Amino acid sequence: MSGGRRLVIAEKPQAAEVIASFLNCTPYEGYFVSDEYIVVPARGHLLELWIKGINVNSLWELPKTEVYFRPRRGSKEQLELIRELASRVDEIIIATDFDREGEVIGYNCVRYIRNDYRDLFSLSPSIIRRAYFSALIPSELEKAFSDETYMDQRLLVQGLARTLADTLIGLNLTKALTLRFKEIYSLKQAVSLGRVQSPLLVHIEDKLKSYDVSVLSPSYSSISVKENKYRYVFVSDGEKTVKVSINFPIYENREIILKHYLYEETVEEQATPMPNTNDVMREMGEVLRPQTLERTLESLYLKQYATYPRTESHYLPPDMLRELQDILMEHGLLKESFSAEYYPVKEAGEEKKLAITLTPQGLRALLRGELRGDEKIVALYLLSKLQRAMAPPLRLKKIYAVFEADGEEFTYEWGTEVANPEDAVDFSWFERKPRLKTGSVKVIVVDTVEEEVTARGLPKLDFRPISDSDLVVWMQERGIGTVATRHIYPSLLRERHYVSEDNLPTSLGEVVARIIRDIGISPELTGWMEEEIRRMGSPYDLVVFKDVIVGKVVVPMIDKLRELENDYFILYCPKGHKVDLVNFLSDGKVVLMMRCNECNKWYPL
Ligand SMILES: [Zn+2]
Repeated sequence: MSGGRRLVIAEKPQAAEVIASFLNCTPYEGYFVSDEYIVVPARGHLLELWIKGINVNSLWELPKTEVYFRPRRGSKEQLELIRELASRVDEIIIATDFDREGEVIGYNCVRYIRNDYRDLFSLSPSIIRRAYFSALIPSELEKAFSDETYMDQRLLVQGLARTLADTLIGLNLTKALTLRFKEIYSLKQAVSLGRVQSPLLVHIEDKLKSYDVSVLSPSYSSISVKENKYRYVFVSDGEKTVKVSINFPIYENREIILKHYLYEETVEEQATPMPNTNDVMREMGEVLRPQTLERTLESLYLKQYATYPRTESHYLPPDMLRELQDILMEHGLLKESFSAEYYPVKEAGEEKKLAITLTPQGLRALLRGELRGDEKIVALYLLSKLQRAMAPPLRLKKIYAVFEADGEEFTYEWGTEVANPEDAVDFSWFERKPRLKTGSVKVIVVDTVEEEVTARGLPKLDFRPISDSDLVVWMQERGIGTVATRHIYPSLLRERHYVSEDNLPTSLGEVVARIIRDIGISPELTGWMEEEIRRMGSPYDLVVFKDVIVGKVVVPMIDKLRELENDYFILYCPKGHKVDLVNFLSDGKVVLMMRCNECNKWYPL
C-alpha cells in the first residue's frame, strides 16, 4: 500500500460514518477508504476483563484475582477485521469518544492488533496516536485531526482502574453469592452483586422503609388550632401610602421625616452556562427518564446535532457560540442586546471537553422542523438554555430611603429599579414601590389576628414512586458511578429481579439488600473507590490499586459472605412456607419465580 496511509478507529458505526465523510473516504464492506485513510468502528468494548479460574465450585476457593483481557463474545469478527485493516496502513489513530471508556476501547483495539492484549498491567499508551473531539462536526474534527496528540495516560489508567475494580469485586462476589444461593435453591443463573448496583439497591430499600405505617397513625388527625397575628406597617405622605417592613421603633400616627433617597448602581450577571451531563439529568429528569435522555443525547450527538453528551464541562468556544448567536438572531429568537460575548465559561477546563449544546447544524435542523419526539424536546430545552447563555447583565439601581425620627437617621431599602428591564431573563423578584414625597410622612400600623384555623382529617401519605431520575440524582450526589454509566443501573436492578417495574424491592431484592448491608458494600465505599480512581494517573497506581481492592474489599467481603447463616437467605411464600427459588429461560428472558411445594403453587417475587 502507499506510504503514509492511516487507520482511524472510531467508537460506533455512526461516528465512523461521519468521520469518514469528513476525511473524504468512501464506504466499503464495514469500513471506509481513501488513499490516505481507512476508517473503521470498534463497536463498543470488544475486549472484556475476566478472572482466571473464577468458575470454582466452592466458596473456599475464592477470591480469584488473576485478571486478563479476552475478546467479548461475538466480537471476534470485528477484532479480526480491525487487525487485518491495520496490516494495510503505516499508522493507527484512535478517534473514539472523549472519555475513560473511549480511551480503554481504543487502547484495547491497538493492543489486539499487536497481539499483546491479555495483560492489563503492561501499559504503553504514550505511543498511541489520538484525535480528541467533543462534537462530530467539521470544526471539532478539523481541530482533532490537525492537533493530533498521544493517548492521555491519566484518562486511560482511570478507565482501566474502573474496569479492574468492577471485575474483581463483581465477579468474585457474584460467584460467592451464587454459590451460597445454590446451596439452598434450584437456581441455574447467577445472583449478582456489583460495586455500583449494590449501594443503589440498599438505597431503594431504605427509601421504602421510610414510608412507614406510623405516618398514618390516626393520632395525627387531632384538631389543630392556628392563630396568626400579623402587623402591617404603612407610611403615607398624604397622597400615596406604601407598605413597608421597617424595623425602627414605630407607633400609630407617629410623624417621621423622609429626608432623601440614596441610589446604588450594581450589575447582576444573568448569563448561565450551557449544561453538562449532571445538569441535563437534573433539569430534564422530570420530563424524560434518564435512559431516554441518555439515548436521545447520544442520538443527537451521532447525527452531529449536539456535542458529546458525557461531560462535566461548561465550556464552549467563542466561534461556535457566535455561529449559534447568528442563527438565533436570524430567526428572531434572540434579542438584539443578547450576545455570545456574555457567555460565562470562556476557558476550557483541564479535560478540554465542551458543554452540552446544540451544534449549529442541530439548531438549524430544529428550526427547520426536522426533529421529532424526544429529540425535539431535548433540543428545545437546549435552545432555551442557549438564550439564557447569552443574556446581558442587568443594570440595577438600588434605592434607599433615609428617614429621620427623634433626631436619629434610619436607612431603609426602598426597592430596586432595572435600567434594562427588557433584557431580564427573570425579574419577578424585583420590588417596585412608588416614591413618596420627601418631608414629613405618617406611620400607620394595622395589627390583625387571623381567624383560628381548625384542621381535621386523616393524615396523608406523601408517597411518590421512586423514579429512575431520582436514583440517578442520588448516585450523582454520592459520587457513585460516572456521567457515562449512571443511567444504566436502575434498569439493571430490574433485569436482575431485585426491584419491580416500579422500582420497589422484590423479596429477593430485600434479601440481597440485607446481605449487601451486612458485608459492607456502602455508598461511602463505592464513593471512596471513585475518588481513588479520579486521583490515579500512572500504571504503577493501577498495581497498587489492585492490591488495595483485593485486600481491603474483596477478601473481607467474601469472608463475611461465608459466615452468614443459611436462614439468612430463606424466602417465604405468602402463607409463610419456605420456598424454592427457580429461574428459567422463557422467550429469551430469564424468569425468576418462587415455588412453594406445600401450597403446590408458583409465586412471583
Ligand atoms: Zn406456601
